[in-house]
Amino acid sequence: MIKIKEYKEDCVFCGRQANSKYNFETESHIINCENCGDYKINMEGTSSVQTIPVDQKHIIAGYLRELNELGLEAPLITSENIDIILSSSMIPKTVLEKLDKLLLYFERNTTYIYQWVSINYEHTAIAYAKSSEELKNMIEAIENNDYIFKCNEPRVRGFENEESNGEKEKYRLTLEGLSEINEIKDEQVIDTKQCFVAMWFGDQMMEVYNNHISKAIRDSGFEPLIISAKEHNNDICDEIIAEIRKSKFLVADLTGFRGGVYYEAGFAYGLGLPVIYTCKKGWFTGDVEVRAKRADTGKDVIIESPNNLHFDIEHFNFIIWEDEEDLYKRLKNRIEATIR
Ligand SMILES: [Zn+2]
Repeated sequence: MIKIKEYKEDCVFCGRQANSKYNFETESHIINCENCGDYKINMEGTSSVQTIPVDQKHIIAGYLRELNELGLEAPLITSENIDIILSSSMIPKTVLEKLDKLLLYFERNTTYIYQWVSINYEHTAIAYAKSSEELKNMIEAIENNDYIFKCNEPRVRGFENEESNGEKEKYRLTLEGLSEINEIKDEQVIDTKQCFVAMWFGDQMMEVYNNHISKAIRDSGFEPLIISAKEHNNDICDEIIAEIRKSKFLVADLTGFRGGVYYEAGFAYGLGLPVIYTCKKGWFTGDVEVRAKRADTGKDVIIESPNNLHFDIEHFNFIIWEDEEDLYKRLKNRIEATIR
């Protein structure tokens, strides 16, 4: 049985009292903070947080809160990944970007027009604010722009049924606010840092992805996304289509000549997205003999030595890689040279 001890302790990011569970098996704390949401942190992570500048703690609080609201699981916070979190493309860099986050918070909590959204000024993480005062100022700014409208009716303002403490107000998004949110979302699509990776999900290739392809993409300032679902085989699904649409460019590794990779690359090309083609040398030149499991029978078979590439893509400027290090270097150079 997994041993878990429950108690209360101060949240390391925002200082508010939070529920904490210690999992003896994973040696990590599971924190439930009213402001930051749920997150996991280990001992080294906790002591590293003590050493980061105060000015960065509320940024991580905002990041955790946003992940929670988007239904995404926050990474386990360790001493190693605090810097990675702080450099995430999700984090707002300017005052205006913080205001965008606040508007998006309103939008996430609005399901019909003129729905009241209650704002607790203690919950500063909803907009990456450092203090209640900053959050109040931010609310004032978007109110002055007529993006939100404050509730003045005492009847509607009643917060009697809500448990949490702290000063609260209710606001609703105006039509101006909603159309501003549309513009923010359009900009986010243009500004996306996502790179979709289409490739063969064989074990060897997954290792190449984990240690080299994803690293080359990250090190050039982009966020790799792979939908590694072996069950998809060569099928294309709605999720893949949606993610390609949200991407800035696509890396298609043709090693293994999987039908799905051609399809995904073709789809991205059709949308006008840049596609960077890569392929392992032996596969490109046609002198490999590869054993693989057949999807239908599960038996090992020898895949015939390929001697040419499908379709008319030979004239594309391929990265024909010799080994993983070579792939890493050339892919990184190509991204840096061609993707803005
Ligand atoms: Zn917190």
